Amino acid sequence: MAKNKYVYFFGGGKAEGMVVAKDEKGRKQILGGKGSGLADMTAAGLPVPEGFTITCQACAECNELGRKWPKGLAEEVEANIAKLEQLTGKTFGRGGNPLLVSVRSGAAVSMPGMMDTVLNLGLNDETLASLIALTGNERFAYDAYRRFMQMFGDVVLGIEHHDFEHALQSVKDRRGAKLDTDLDVTGLREVVAEYKKAYEHAGKAFPQDARKQLEASINAVFQSWNNPRAIKYRQLNDIRGLLGTAVNVQLMVFGNMGGDSGTGVAFTRDPSTGKNEFYGEYLMNAQGEDVVAGIRTPQPIATLANVDPAAYKQLVEIRGKLESHYRDMQDIEFTIEKGKLFMLQTRSGKRTIFAAVRAAVEMAEAGLITRDQAVARVPSGQLSQLFAPVLDRKEEGAAEKQGRILAKGLPASPGGACGQVVFHADVAEAWAKEGKKVILVRIETSPEDVGGMAVAQAVVTARGGMTSHAAVVARGMGTPCVAGAGDLRIDYSAKTITVQDKIVREGEHVSLSGFTGTVYVGQIKVQPSEIIQVQDGVLKPEESLLFQQYSKLLGWSDRIRKLGVRTNADIPRDADRASKMGAEGIGLCRTEHMFFEGNRIVSFRRFILVADEVKRLREELAAAGDDQAKAAAIHQKLAVPEAQYNQALAELLPLQRSDFEGIFRVMGSRPVTIRLLDPPLHEFLPQEDANQREMAATMGIDVQIIKNTVASMHEFNPMLGLRGCRLGIAYPDVSAMQVRAIIEAALKVCGEGFKPHPEIMIPLVGAVKELQLQRELTEKVIQQVKAERGLKKLPFPVKIGTMIEVPRGAITADEIATVAEFFSFGTNDLTQMGCGFSRDDAGKFLGDYVRQGIYDYDPFQTLDRGGVGQLVKIAVEKGRKTRPDIKLGICGEHGGDPMSVEFCHMVGLNYVSCSPYRVPVARLAAAQAALKHPYGQPATEAKPAKRAAKKPARKPAKARKKGKR
Ligand code: PEP
Ligand code: MG
Repeated sequence: MAKNKYVYFFGGGKAEGMVVAKDEKGRKQILGGKGSGLADMTAAGLPVPEGFTITCQACAECNELGRKWPKGLAEEVEANIAKLEQLTGKTFGRGGNPLLVSVRSGAAVSMPGMMDTVLNLGLNDETLASLIALTGNERFAYDAYRRFMQMFGDVVLGIEHHDFEHALQSVKDRRGAKLDTDLDVTGLREVVAEYKKAYEHAGKAFPQDARKQLEASINAVFQSWNNPRAIKYRQLNDIRGLLGTAVNVQLMVFGNMGGDSGTGVAFTRDPSTGKNEFYGEYLMNAQGEDVVAGIRTPQPIATLANVDPAAYKQLVEIRGKLESHYRDMQDIEFTIEKGKLFMLQTRSGKRTIFAAVRAAVEMAEAGLITRDQAVARVPSGQLSQLFAPVLDRKEEGAAEKQGRILAKGLPASPGGACGQVVFHADVAEAWAKEGKKVILVRIETSPEDVGGMAVAQAVVTARGGMTSHAAVVARGMGTPCVAGAGDLRIDYSAKTITVQDKIVREGEHVSLSGFTGTVYVGQIKVQPSEIIQVQDGVLKPEESLLFQQYSKLLGWSDRIRKLGVRTNADIPRDADRASKMGAEGIGLCRTEHMFFEGNRIVSFRRFILVADEVKRLREELAAAGDDQAKAAAIHQKLAVPEAQYNQALAELLPLQRSDFEGIFRVMGSRPVTIRLLDPPLHEFLPQEDANQREMAATMGIDVQIIKNTVASMHEFNPMLGLRGCRLGIAYPDVSAMQVRAIIEAALKVCGEGFKPHPEIMIPLVGAVKELQLQRELTEKVIQQVKAERGLKKLPFPVKIGTMIEVPRGAITADEIATVAEFFSFGTNDLTQMGCGFSRDDAGKFLGDYVRQGIYDYDPFQTLDRGGVGQLVKIAVEKGRKTRPDIKLGICGEHGGDPMSVEFCHMVGLNYVSCSPYRVPVARLAAAQAALKHPYGQPATEAKPAKRAAKKPARKPAKARKKGKR
C-alpha cells in the first residue's frame, strides 16, 4: 500500500491537493475547508501566497498518538518548507530574505475563531534584523515581531493573554499612546522587551529556532481541535464525524506595511439579507486579526474603490469568478501588500436563513444553480426563524421620535428583540435559565461567549464589523445582532451602558432591530414577521420580498417532495395558521385540549366524578339478570348518578360538535384526523387542595368527594395506565359522544357546502381486539346517526384507523391493519415505550446520554432510527402487507424535525404531521429528502392527480423504477 501522504503543496499555479478527491466535498474532508479553497484558488490562477496543507488525518493521528507526529510527517513538512524556500527565494529562520509563514487551522466544516492561528512565524532576533534591512521599515518589523511573540506565547505556550495585554498597556500608558498604532518604533521595541519578560515570568522560553516554532505551532493547532470552545461549538452546531483540523502553513503577506497595504474580509453577497451585492470590509495598514477581532471598526468594501482602485477592481473580478466557480455565496479573506492583492481564503459563506433563502432563489432564477440545488441548499431546520418576530413598526417610530435611540450599529444579524441587558455570557445563561429574556451586551465577543449568545434574545457589541466574531456567530445561530455600535460606552464593572446622558443598567430593557442596526432604550413590542403579516393580510405580498422568495422556494419544494405534510392542530385558529403555512390536512387533532376550554371542564369533571359508580352499578345490573328485586334496587341507586352522567355527556356533545365544525370549515375538503380521548382522566381533576376546594365550590359538592375520586384514580405509572383506547373501552359512552360529535359536525358543514374528510383515530392500540371494539362502537354510532337522519349513506367518506404508539402495536401491525384503514405513528409514546424513557422525566439524563454518545440525538426530538425507527419500519411493512393501500403518517413531534422527516421519506410514509409553524420546515425537509433519496417513496396524498395519471397499478415495474408505489 502506498505510504500515507500528509502534506500537499500549493503555489506556482499548481496545487497537489486538487487530486486527493474527485470533488470539493471529498477534498474538504482531507484538506479541510481552507486548504481545499486555497488549492482551488491556486489552481484557478488566483493570486494566492504559496504554502502547504497538512491533512486532517495527520491531526487525528497526532491526537491519537498522544501528541506525537505520525511517521513521515516531519520529513514531509521539511520537504515542503524546502519547496517553499525554493519557490519564494527566501530562507526559513535565517538569512537576509527570511521566509515568514502563517500557521492556520481549517477543518472540513468551518468553525470560525474556535481553533488557533499563529502569524509571522519564522521571526527571531536574526530575521527581525533582516526584515528591518529588507523593508527599511523598522516599526513594521517590530510590530510583526511583537504580534508573533504574543500569539506564540498565548496560543502555543499557554502564557496568559492578559500578561501580554498588560505589558502592552503599560508601554502604551508610559508613552501616552491611546491605540496600538500610536506606538512608534521605540515603543514597540519596549513592548518586545516586556514580552520577553512575560515569557521569563511564565518560565517559558521563546524559541529562536524557526523549525521549533513551526513544530510547536502545528502541534498547538492540532490540539486546538479538542479545546473546550471548539468542542462546544461542534456540539451547538451538530458538527460530527470529522477527523480533526487540517493545518495550513503559508507564506506571510502583510497588510500592515503602510498606507498602501491592507486586509479585509468580504462576502460575495450580503450574508445578512442575501442581497446580490459585494459585501465586506477592510482596514488599511492592518493585519487580518485586526478585522476579525473587531478592535478597529473597518471600512465598507465599496470605499476601497477610492483607496486602491486597482485592487478593488481585481477583487470584484475575483468575486464574480468565485461565485460562478462555486455557484454559491463565498466568504473571502484578502490582503493587499504594497498594492498587490493576495487571496487568503475562500469558503462557503455563513449566512442567515433570510440570506440563504434569497441567495438560493436569486441564484436559481439567474440560472447559476438549478431549482433542486436551491431547495437542497437552504437549511430546513432554520426555516422557522423566518417567522421570528420583528419590532413593531409603529412603536419603533414612536421610540425614535421620543429620542429613545441609544445607538446605531451594524445590522449584523436580522430579527427584532427586546430583553433585559446583561454584560456577561454566564449571567446570560443563568438569567435565561430563570426564564428571563436577555440581551447580551459586550464591547466585543469572543469564543468564550458562545454559550451566552445561544440563550440571548439578541447580541449587541460596541466594537467590530459585519465579520466580527459576534456578527458571524449570531448569524449562524439565527440570533439578532447589532455589531459595532461604537457610541456605547460599556463598563463591565459598573454594569452600565452609557451614551451621553443616557445610562442603561444591567437588568433594564433595551430593544433592537437586527435589520437596521438600531438599539433603543426600553421596551418595544415585537410583532410577527413579514411572512405572518402577509399571511394575515396585514401586508400585501408584493410589499414583502421575503414573502415572495419564501413562497417560491416552498413552491419548488412542493413539486419535489413525495411526502404529504399535515399539521397537528386542535383548534380552528391553529388549523388556519397551519393552512397558511401549507398544511394539506390535519394529522392529529387532540380532542382532550377542547375539554379544558371555558366551562366545559365543569361538565367533564361532573362526568368523571360519577363515571366509576355508574360503570359499577351497570355491571351489577347486568349481573342481576332476572332478579327483579335486585335490579330495581340497583336502578334506584343508579338513577341520580346516571342522570348526572348523561347530562354531562349531553352538555359536552354540542360543544365538541361545534369545535369540529370550526375545524372542518377551516380545512374544507382536506383530511382531518381526529383522535378520541387519550390522556388519563385524573389529568382533568385538580390535584391541589386549593383547586379542589374551588372545584367543590363551583359544583356545590363536598370537597371530600373530589378528594376521594382523585385518590381512587391515582396511578403509579399513569402513562402506562388507564388512557388511550383503554378509556374508550372502560367508558364507551365518551367515545360514542365524540364519534357522534364528529359525524354530526361533518353533516352540518356538508349542509353548508363543505366536503369534510373526517378520519377517526383510536389511540394507544397495542392489540387488534382493542381496535376492533372501538371500531364496532364507532360504526354503531355512525349507523345510529344515519338512522336518525334517514340517511342510507353518509355524504362524505369516513376512515377509521389507529395510532401506532405502543411497541406491541407496531410488531402486530399486520393484524391491526385488518381493522385499521390508516396508521399514524405516535412516535412520542413509541419512543417512550420503545426506549423505556419517561417522556416527562428523561430530560434529567438525556443530555448526558447524548454527550456520551449513547444516543446520537435526543430521541424525543430526532427519531431514533436504529430502535424506534425499526419499529416504524416493521409496522410499515406489516401494515402494507395486510392492506396495500393503508395510509401511513406520523404525528409525533418528530414530524417537524428534518432528520426524522428524511427517515419518514425513506421508509415510505405517506405524510408527516407537525405543529403549524413547522409545516414549512417539513415541506422543505421532505423535498430535500426526496432529492437525497430519489427512489422508494410512495405516491403521496399530496398529489392525487399526478398519482392517478401515472396509473401505478398497471405499470408496477416502471412505477417502482421511478420510485412510485
Ligand atoms: C404521540 O404519542 O406521538 C402522540 C402524537 O400522542 P401524544 O403526544 O398526544 O401522546
Ligand atoms: Mg401518544
